[in-house]
Amino acid sequence: MAMIVPEGLAAPVLYRPHGGELPRLDRAEMLRYLGFSGQEMESELKRRIDAVADDVERNFTPAGVRRVFAVDAIGVDDEGAPAIKLVGTSVVLQGLDIYRHLKDARLCVLMACTLGMESERRLRAGTASSVETTVLDAACSAYIEAAVEAMDQEARADAATLGLSANWRFSCGYGDCPLTAQPRIVSALNAGRLIGLTVTPTNLLLPSKSVTAMIGLFDGPVHDANTRPTCGICRLREGCSFRARGTTCYGG
Ligand code: SF4
Repeated sequence: MAMIVPEGLAAPVLYRPHGGELPRLDRAEMLRYLGFSGQEMESELKRRIDAVADDVERNFTPAGVRRVFAVDAIGVDDEGAPAIKLVGTSVVLQGLDIYRHLKDARLCVLMACTLGMESERRLRAGTASSVETTVLDAACSAYIEAAVEAMDQEARADAATLGLSANWRFSCGYGDCPLTAQPRIVSALNAGRLIGLTVTPTNLLLPSKSVTAMIGLFDGPVHDANTRPTCGICRLREGCSFRARGTTCYGG
């Protein structure tokens, strides 16, 4: 299969919502981050939570960038283990979970999104133990999630115009996919220059309220990474580096 990105998907796409395009902070999601699951809440606490959510929606503006790359699922990492490579970048995604997520995909939408340094400054200004900081942290988490979801929907819609289906959003740190790919992901998206996203020496994103993610794009039906793969019908069967090592990508 040719490892090229269709012309309509090749260019980086910036996400810079404003006005009515800004995502809505999901209050229920925010409450889940705070540990609520339907319990009664005092009206004063509810008022404070609403005030912080309003503040975040008013004063923080998410920014993101996404780009589509071809998937190379027959490559290996520096240790010779099977890995997903994104063609034209130095990104190498390790681990069985991301391998199963992308092995049957022709393309991968790589995305990064951040709430920016203002969120970081405000979170650092508070004391970790204060209720206000805890609530602000939850609100920022819910808001960045809403922004990434908006980017996700846009990416899916763009892919659908070319007849491509998309699986779910996967991030480094899920399952056995290490965070070590973060610096190369940020670099591949030029996200430092475009949206001010950086990575710490321990591979954490900075600003901390930031997300990077990968979505697989498929010519046919979506491959569900949660379904146990079958070598018998796998397109990688002939050159499979797992099988060459006497194992499989599903650990059997
Ligand atoms: S051939 Fe089997 S082990 Fe190799 S990628 Fe396909 S399903 Fe996984």
